[in-house]
Amino acid sequence: MLTDIEDIDIKKLSKIYDSGNRDSFISLYLDFDNLDDKFIEQRRNACKSVLKSDRDLLSNFEKTMQQVDRYAETQNREKGQRALIIFASHLNNFFSVYKISVPADNLLIIDTSPYIRPIARLRDEYETSGLILLDNHRAKLYIVSSGRANYVKKTAMDIMNKHKKGGWSQARFQRSRKGAIKSFFKEVSEHAKELFGDDVVKIVIAGPGNAKLAFRNFLPPEIGEKVIDLIDMDFDEAEGKLVSEAVNIVSEDERKTSEENVRILKGEILKGSLAVYGLKETVRAVRNGQVELLLVSKGYRVKGWICEKCQAVEQGVEDRCPYCGSEVSEADIVEEIVEFAERTNTEIEFVEDSPILNELGGVGGLLKFIVD
Ligand SMILES: [Zn+2]
Repeated sequence: MLTDIEDIDIKKLSKIYDSGNRDSFISLYLDFDNLDDKFIEQRRNACKSVLKSDRDLLSNFEKTMQQVDRYAETQNREKGQRALIIFASHLNNFFSVYKISVPADNLLIIDTSPYIRPIARLRDEYETSGLILLDNHRAKLYIVSSGRANYVKKTAMDIMNKHKKGGWSQARFQRSRKGAIKSFFKEVSEHAKELFGDDVVKIVIAGPGNAKLAFRNFLPPEIGEKVIDLIDMDFDEAEGKLVSEAVNIVSEDERKTSEENVRILKGEILKGSLAVYGLKETVRAVRNGQVELLLVSKGYRVKGWICEKCQAVEQGVEDRCPYCGSEVSEADIVEEIVEFAERTNTEIEFVEDSPILNELGGVGGLLKFIVD
């Protein structure tokens, strides 16, 4: 079965780590449409040669990969599946698989914990959105997530036939028809309110002619403010085309939102108020639960270390934790910040490589409050 990106329990994954600080977790992301046959083999050999000096870790790696192989042998690519994600650790008796319908970069990473950054990023890119297709007497409502549409409601009103009989005058018929359209729009807006809950942050309205403009006025304000675009579309247009247009509009809007948020961050920094930037400050603020929105530059990685025992994370190289003396392990600080953010329910915005954000250290955050 395919898993919606939204349904992956990323918070739970962000809390899983090897208590002995060992690099025992394998995170595997495979994009079936862009998979080089040699990818796994090459990564496997590279990891093995690095782990050679540690017999336990090497044996864990081999056993974990055997588990992955055994799983792969029994599975076929599912209809609509684009990528496969596996988190596994033989030492921790952990094995978790997700089949998803959106592309992911191929990765095989060994770390002290599941590598969740790509999931957080996909989640930001493929926001759940609502799609309303309507004309004057028919409507279809969809929820679009992981790039796929789920049909949630179809509703129609047979306006013409309802008033056929009775020998009404043309004027009376027109008045009645207008009234019927109004009540139809009202009904559709009730459905939208009911179906598009908190998960749906963006809505696209599609359909022929002026119906969508007129309909928009019937939406309650809390739904109306989520509408990002109206598109001209024949009511009977193929669903695939409709959905892909809506997905493109939503992702374009998401890109603009990211840019806007970087501008807001910059403004807050200039004012010296509710913002943090740079690795050290951002790590601290995220862990304090101070961050309203975490901004992360998409491709940014920073070499550092993490102590899983006291959860210290810093840039640079250390063998032992300067705070508790435990052995530390190498880490990508940005991944660690993302994990802290998931644990503290902080919203994350991944930003296309932004010179402003990169200059600020690749990460930054808009704050809810300031701690002295
Ligand atoms: Zn420590």
